Amino acid sequence: MTTVGTFSTVLRPERVAELTRLVRSTTGQTRTVSTPLSGEPLAEIPSSSLDDVDAAFDAARGAQRTWSQTSLRERSQMMLRLHDLVLSHRDELLDLIQLESGKSRQHAFDEVAHLALTARYYARRLRRQLSPDRRSGVLPGLTRITVNRVPKGVVGIISPWNYPLTMAIADGLPALVAGNTVVHKPDSQSPLTALAGAELLRAAGFPADVWQVVSGPGNVVGTAIVEQADYICFTGSTATGTGIAKIAAERLVGYSLELGGKNPMIVLPGADVEKAAAGAVTACFSSAGQLCVSIERLYVHDSLYDAFRSAFVRRVSSLALGASLDWDVEIGSLISAGQLETVTKHVDDAVASGATVLVGGRARPDLGPYFYEPTVLEGVTPAAQCFEDETFGPLVSLYRYDSVEDVVELANAGEYGLNASIFGPVSLAREIAPRIKAGTVNINEGFAATFGSVDAPMGGMRTSGTGRRQGDEGIHRYTETQSVGVQRLLPVAGPAFVKPQIYARFLTFALRLLRRTPRA
Ligand code: NAD
Repeated sequence: MTTVGTFSTVLRPERVAELTRLVRSTTGQTRTVSTPLSGEPLAEIPSSSLDDVDAAFDAARGAQRTWSQTSLRERSQMMLRLHDLVLSHRDELLDLIQLESGKSRQHAFDEVAHLALTARYYARRLRRQLSPDRRSGVLPGLTRITVNRVPKGVVGIISPWNYPLTMAIADGLPALVAGNTVVHKPDSQSPLTALAGAELLRAAGFPADVWQVVSGPGNVVGTAIVEQADYICFTGSTATGTGIAKIAAERLVGYSLELGGKNPMIVLPGADVEKAAAGAVTACFSSAGQLCVSIERLYVHDSLYDAFRSAFVRRVSSLALGASLDWDVEIGSLISAGQLETVTKHVDDAVASGATVLVGGRARPDLGPYFYEPTVLEGVTPAAQCFEDETFGPLVSLYRYDSVEDVVELANAGEYGLNASIFGPVSLAREIAPRIKAGTVNINEGFAATFGSVDAPMGGMRTSGTGRRQGDEGIHRYTETQSVGVQRLLPVAGPAFVKPQIYARFLTFALRLLRRTPRA
């Protein structure tokens, strides 16, 4: 078993050098990345200057012209090779994800699986999603319309630390295979994982220049990307996302933003209490709760509340915490001192305003510098900060409700709308789902039913973001539609060789005829 104090030796210096060479940097300056599992330094990451960002865009723009001419078949084959490489490099990817994010191995595996699923999905769907599409012309037979999907150009990807592999590479893959090139800035706390992903892209056959990696502070290097990219894909905080949207609006470029959430779970009357409690544990504490779709509010019907509370608390109390790269640990560390401070503040503040800690409620410096126990609160009042604000940590509040109408209103409270979960009878849950303001609703699951189904669009309503990853939406966001109309026989806007009133009579007749058909 790996123990505290031994993490820095997991990565060989030669391996670190191979990965860090992929950062576009001429500054000679570096920044230390440390593992949250123990606080030990892991690597020195080269810092990129604004000139380096410019150079990355120049290279990406140059590469895009050739790249966009490759066939969809070639791109699809590269994706399938990437799928295989991700699985054959699974163990190193798991080590890197764990070392940089602090999460447990089983939660790191979710990322590896998600990236492989995404690669296979777009490899198989690419042709259908990108091939020119026939649409109806003005009048049948006279105008032939096709819609092309044209790449945007260079896409900027700004990714977070909590899912350092999949929120970087899986989000960028559809951009690449739609014919764009990418300039990517990983979060400064987790660049090695993203670099390992970039290395696998090259090994799968993607040309080196189609994926550029730059590194540095978000407000400098990230802003420079937002100021140059033809489209921006951002995952992170609502505050940063709002700033990015303002710059993008000035430039009239598109963006997708996946931001924060205060995601609710509803346990309906008639739910299987043990199944709901087990599902809630995964839903609340995956990646120690540092997951955008994590559940932070749990509404349980009065008839089940006591039974659910004891089943849930029992399961949470028995979770195995630890700093280890082995599979037996269930919950890992928080990412940083900042995240630990937020969680501690939210718990202390809730308790000060009358809440009770049912389980957890304390930091665990004996395990590592940023560990915090999975925590369940009861009796949280609107005065508490965690009532509405996102904690982004291992903290959930239990609430009792007695009518389905009330719980829909409770679930929709606040400003977010990312994910929701409903445990209980499927017919009732499906009936409620459309009334919940959330981009994904998982029935008898916390988040994985929709997150894992990569054919399904995923993203936020309200301040949880805009745009969707995954599915057709996840690739079409990186394209512009271009309608191409071919006119045959007669011009459509009034032929010069017929008097306007005759043309108008003909068109009126044709429109009346069309009205009788089911055509759009
Ligand atoms: P953040 O928004 O500060 O950082 C996310 C990414 O954006 C990082 O790569 C960062 O370097 C970059 N960035 C920061 N400022 C930027 C700017 N001005 N312009 C361009 N890029 C910029 O988020 P964080 O501080 O890492 O986390 C804080 C909160 O964000 C969390 O508590 C959580 O609420 C939310 N978050 C959400 C997700 C998600 O999956 N939706 C992921 C991570 C964080």
